Amino acid sequence: MPKVKSETSFAVIGGGMAGILSVIKLAEAGFERVTLFEKADELGGTWRENTYPGVACDVPSHLYSYSFELNPEWSHLFSPGPEIHKYLLKVAQKYGVRQKARLSDEVVKMSFEGGKWRILTQGGYDQSFDFVIAATGVLHHPSYPSISGLDKFEGHMFHSARWDHSVDLEGKSLGVIGTGSTAVQIVAAATPKVGRLDLFQRTPQWILQVQNPSIDEVDKEKYRKDPSLMLDLHEELSKSFADNFANAVVDADSKEVKILEELCKMNLENNVTDPELREKLRPDYRAACKRLIISPNFYEAIQMPNANLVTSPIVQAESNGIRTQDGELHELDILVLATGFRVDRFMRPIEVFGLDGVSLDETWKERPSAYLAISIPDFPNMFMLNGPNGPVGNFSLIEVAEVQFKYIMQLVDRAMTAESGVICATHSAAETFENERIEAAKKTVWVTGCKSWYLDDRGVPAAWPWNFEHFRAKMEKPVDEDYELVTLAPL
Ligand code: NAP
Repeated sequence: MPKVKSETSFAVIGGGMAGILSVIKLAEAGFERVTLFEKADELGGTWRENTYPGVACDVPSHLYSYSFELNPEWSHLFSPGPEIHKYLLKVAQKYGVRQKARLSDEVVKMSFEGGKWRILTQGGYDQSFDFVIAATGVLHHPSYPSISGLDKFEGHMFHSARWDHSVDLEGKSLGVIGTGSTAVQIVAAATPKVGRLDLFQRTPQWILQVQNPSIDEVDKEKYRKDPSLMLDLHEELSKSFADNFANAVVDADSKEVKILEELCKMNLENNVTDPELREKLRPDYRAACKRLIISPNFYEAIQMPNANLVTSPIVQAESNGIRTQDGELHELDILVLATGFRVDRFMRPIEVFGLDGVSLDETWKERPSAYLAISIPDFPNMFMLNGPNGPVGNFSLIEVAEVQFKYIMQLVDRAMTAESGVICATHSAAETFENERIEAAKKTVWVTGCKSWYLDDRGVPAAWPWNFEHFRAKMEKPVDEDYELVTLAPL
């Protein structure tokens, strides 16, 4: 029997920007029975978890905003993390998201039983829902390096996403492992504070220098008085990111990627004075092959007298520091592991069981995949935001989630008007998409000779390999025959 809105229930998993978005948009669409599950005691996702010094979003704030809640108060072109977190909480508050959230209760199991998703939490909550929206994020589960002796280090040690604010940096010797976007922000912010900073670089990175000006009162006042100016800016930034970054990375021969390469080279040549240090910082792969790093002042920080770029490989950690291959012991009070995330997890470790009890762990035993990053065959009425192989890179994941959400709502509508009420991508659609994706990825800059978290275990980029217009076009309207309405066996 077709479902009615007032009786249709949704479980939203994850209280980050995509989960908050889902609750707001479901309410706007007239769905009242919505529960958001968040294992932490606060909403905000990545902006709640990442509190390291210098944390900021390297996507301009006026683009990294909900299109329906533009914010005239952004302080900077790239506003700091705590400000973004505050913004998300404010939006959540305004739309009553918290009232629908179960905080501090981790979902441990989800199983599709009798046409509904049964959700079980650590705290013993057990309830069934018609639809699940998995908004669990990609960069969520810290990846810890396998460096021998780490457990013997007697100083303070933590992952960048688990920053220990009880540790004072002032005057200390700080070691940072990693040279990704996170480490670069930490180095730029922490070097002026610490006594000595050792940056352990396994692979150098290309850095695009972009200044981060503050937004003055005059502009803020203009935005407050005329919000349409912010909308114009949002559109303009969106177009510019799509035309420049997105077009650049999906085509290794594009003129856009060549421009990025030139800009990165100029930054290195012009802003690193010591030729020896410059060569140590020079990558041997193409710019944007790894996720492009944007920083106004990383080179300035690493050239400060108290900063030391360590390029000799790490051999082991010892009680008082890190020993490198050249035999040197780098004595440290604090060691930060800016070593990234396990990007193949998504909603796991939740145990997820779909049609006929098929497990997600089994389905994804080789690697995660989903048709158009949204729907997994055999896991009906469960849709992902920022799911596997979706657009990643230097653009707004809020924008991505908004586009995906509209698409998902069309699937929900179709399921609700159908007899079975249950919809899922077909195996053949998922397979075709996967093959097309792998083929298209051969043209991208991500496969031009570097290692990065974009690449899966086969070296295939786990990312949307087409441009942003293609993404928008695909998300415009689901192709009917790529989905099946699942008829369930009578109970
Ligand atoms: P990441 O890009 O995965 O970088 C991890 C770093 O750790 C790499 O430099 C890696 O070296 C190094 N590493 C890992 N294991 C190591 C080991 N055993 N020994 C030595 N070095 C080791 O992680 P991330 O910097 O946290 O960034 C992850 C993603 O988060 C970014 O790409 C971005 O999408 C997002 N992010 C965004 C922002 C933003 O402003 N929007 C800020 C921060 C992060 P190799 O390069 O040699 O592998």
